[in-house]
Amino acid sequence: MKIILIDCGILFPYEDFFDINYLIPDLREVEHKISKIIITHGHEDHIGAIHHYIEKFPEAEIYAPLFAKKLIENKLDYKSLSKKIKPLNNKIEFGAAAITPIHVNHSIPDTKGLMITHDKLDTAVLFISDFKVDLNSPYEAPINLDLIKDFSSKYKRRVALLDSTNIMSKNLHTPSEGSVLKDLKEEMETTTGTTYITSFASNIHRIQTILTSCKRLKPFCYSIW
Ligand SMILES: [Zn+2]
Repeated sequence: MKIILIDCGILFPYEDFFDINYLIPDLREVEHKISKIIITHGHEDHIGAIHHYIEKFPEAEIYAPLFAKKLIENKLDYKSLSKKIKPLNNKIEFGAAAITPIHVNHSIPDTKGLMITHDKLDTAVLFISDFKVDLNSPYEAPINLDLIKDFSSKYKRRVALLDSTNIMSKNLHTPSEGSVLKDLKEEMETTTGTTYITSFASNIHRIQTILTSCKRLKPFCYSIW
């Protein structure tokens, strides 16, 4: 049996995990051959363990969206590993099954959901690892709901496997990055002192928002690590 793996990230350690930098699944438990690894986006909890998998399954084909592909290639350079990463643009077919990437919004560019279809089983499974719905992003197109609807209408059995940070929170609405950009610009243009901004380093769109807001101001932007 061959296995297709979706994402291979790391788990960040808790405070009491002394001297442990990160955790990965125990690869000794993976008994079957992994034939393909499909990456949904470039966050560390989705690509961080990829070099461990390449060392264990060197023959596996790896597909990743362009932004994640660049991050993985940097990571492999750092580890002195060589592996071709194929761009995840189009449908990948294997027998009666196929995986089609679908554009979704997230805090990092070029994030994909995956529509996994099986014609003989008349089944479509929508898998999205991290996402938000941003219909007014200044940086990317809205999530491709039309493509999701199109697939859903073609298959008798439909399953949605969706996950994202805070997905279980009630009455929580994530504002569009467009409104953050507008508010931050106004704030920075009217302040008379220094503005300090904190953000997750992995929130690439937010970093772009901060840089865009700083652009017209002087003396621009300093990072404090
Ligand atoms: Zn993510």
